Amino acid sequence: MKDIVYWMDPRPIVKDYSISHVPSKTDVLLIGSGYTSVVTAIYLAKAGVKTVVIDKGEIGSEASSKNGGMVLTGLSVSFYKILKQFGKDKLKQYFAESLSSIDCVEQLVNEGQIDCDFLRCGHFEVAYKPSHFDGLKEEAEFLEETLGHQTSLVFPEKMQEELASESYHGGLIDSKSASVQPAKYMAGLVALAEKVGVEFSSYVEAALVKKINGRFEIITNMGVVKADNVVIGTNGYTTLVSPWLKKRIVPVESFMIATEKLPDGVIKTLIPNNRMVFDTKRFLYYFRLSPDRQRILFGGRPRRTTTNTKEKADQMKEDLLTVFPQLDSYKIDYAWGGKIGFTVSRFPMIGVNKGIYYAMGYCGHGVAMATYLGSKLSRFILENKLDTVFAENKAFPIPFNRGNPWFLPIAHNWFRLMDRIS
Ligand SMILES: Cc1cc2nc3c(=O)[nH]c(=O)nc-3n(C[C@H](O)[C@H](O)[C@H](O)COP(=O)(O)OP(=O)(O)OC[C@H]3O[C@@H](n4cnc5c(N)ncnc54)[C@H](O)[C@@H]3O)c2cc1C
Repeated sequence: MKDIVYWMDPRPIVKDYSISHVPSKTDVLLIGSGYTSVVTAIYLAKAGVKTVVIDKGEIGSEASSKNGGMVLTGLSVSFYKILKQFGKDKLKQYFAESLSSIDCVEQLVNEGQIDCDFLRCGHFEVAYKPSHFDGLKEEAEFLEETLGHQTSLVFPEKMQEELASESYHGGLIDSKSASVQPAKYMAGLVALAEKVGVEFSSYVEAALVKKINGRFEIITNMGVVKADNVVIGTNGYTTLVSPWLKKRIVPVESFMIATEKLPDGVIKTLIPNNRMVFDTKRFLYYFRLSPDRQRILFGGRPRRTTTNTKEKADQMKEDLLTVFPQLDSYKIDYAWGGKIGFTVSRFPMIGVNKGIYYAMGYCGHGVAMATYLGSKLSRFILENKLDTVFAENKAFPIPFNRGNPWFLPIAHNWFRLMDRIS
């Protein structure tokens, strides 16, 4: 088994952006180099703004190159909760923007002619318990009646048409969702950004952002950068460079495995219509075919805390076999993990705090949402106009969170218990 990311073998072409010192000044410095910062930088640079993107690691190599590549409609927070909290009109806006977020990915893929296997294959949300299928039926009705959005239900007796698994009890298909090869998408965005003039520096860690006479000085391990504006797009990797953001983001580990190449006769039956699949558990499994339709890629949360990749991969294979026991004799070729940024409200957060712009907290929907809110952030900086309903959500600090999420194991055990009993 290779302890590397399937999506980065072979590595998509992201150039080596290591440098010996950072540029001493720029119009906008963007900290973090995932989809959020790079998309923001693309639109800023197109408007003639000098932008520099720094990352403490390799450019674009964290969650944005490691994820499941599911470009999903909807949000992490439930529609019913949004309806109850904000009413029907706002819910319509949230949902419309979730659809726009996928269009935004598609538009950038087309504009940059990014070869990243973007495909509107649809997602398939599968019921973990029979009662969850009733919930999905209600959801389908709700989506159609309240939001005019068509989905289709797959009844338990028809499951084999979509999924060769006995573990689930029906499901809901939303054909608007899409898939990408995430690392190729990331690499394509970096290439597009470079073409429009964005500068990149890898292995540059921002340690402190100081505001002096209305301008910023960013202290990094490679020197000081002066900038008119600063964007923080560090999501699940947020450090104390912004204690304010760190208190508002919970980093949650997500882990993936990729099987060896499976025989044609086996792979064709597993997810015959090539959907992006996830289940209705709180600690959900998500899985899909590789773009070449030869392997299963399977993700979730490692059950036990261990830093050993092999142990995590073994656990994840056990989970995979609960869904597809027919894969017992096949090996796991790749295993890797990364960090997802969660907020307490489960809404993404976007805005400005003490003059520092940010967008993060996509709660597992970041392929589409980070791209979309990156584009919104650029307009905010350029025109001082933040035209997204997501800006209306106040980003609350997580109680007792001083940057060390000690409460995570307790929360994990609680959610696992809830998955067993409800
Ligand atoms: C295993 C896994 C599976 C996932 N699957 C999906 C999926 O299928 N669909 C979906 O929509 N989402 C998924 N996600 C979530 C999605 O990948 C993220 O929401 C998205 O990539 C976030 O992008 P970003 O630009 O905000 O940040 P990231 O891509 O997380 O990048 C943040 C960067 O900030 C850098 N950084 C942090 N601090 C500093 C500092 N002080 N100085 C310099 N650099 C710094 C880090 O090195 C990192 O490169 C998944 C995530 C993981 C980990």
